[in-house]
Amino acid sequence: MTIGPKAQSATFRIEALSPGRLEAVRCSGIDDGGNHVFPPRAAEGGEPVRCCLRIAGPGERLLLIAYHPFNKPSPYAETGPVFVHAENCGGYPWPDRYPVEFRGRQQVFRCYDTGGNILGGHLAEPSEDVEAVIADLLANEKVEYIHTRNVVFGCYMLEIRRPAA
Ligand SMILES: [Zn+2]
Repeated sequence: MTIGPKAQSATFRIEALSPGRLEAVRCSGIDDGGNHVFPPRAAEGGEPVRCCLRIAGPGERLLLIAYHPFNKPSPYAETGPVFVHAENCGGYPWPDRYPVEFRGRQQVFRCYDTGGNILGGHLAEPSEDVEAVIADLLANEKVEYIHTRNVVFGCYMLEIRRPAA
């Protein structure tokens, strides 16, 4: 199934927060850092929301949760704050495309190997072509996945992997 104008073979796969893990946080009310996440807060507008990779509009109901975006123990495996929708929003529907609303931001792209060790990265300026940055970083065969993060706060944004075979 292809949707929209850029129907071409994907060269990467964008992973938003795991819907299953997020639902567990919403149900238990406890995040990966052991914090109580309720009650929701009303968005000021402009918050990057990591469940569906959009920018929140004013008044959207958000949770600020501590999230651990790793599936293996590693000294590099950090837990940090992310905004998510307070209710199930359906997640991110275009895994073969970098999120439109996250373009034009200064972002750190951090590369990890299969063991979760950092393999370097790239500080992308707002004017840079993110597809070219991703292609360049994935050209290193040792790179298993890439995390993007905000520059000042260091908050996790999303994960990038090679497309499923
Ligand atoms: Zn969402």
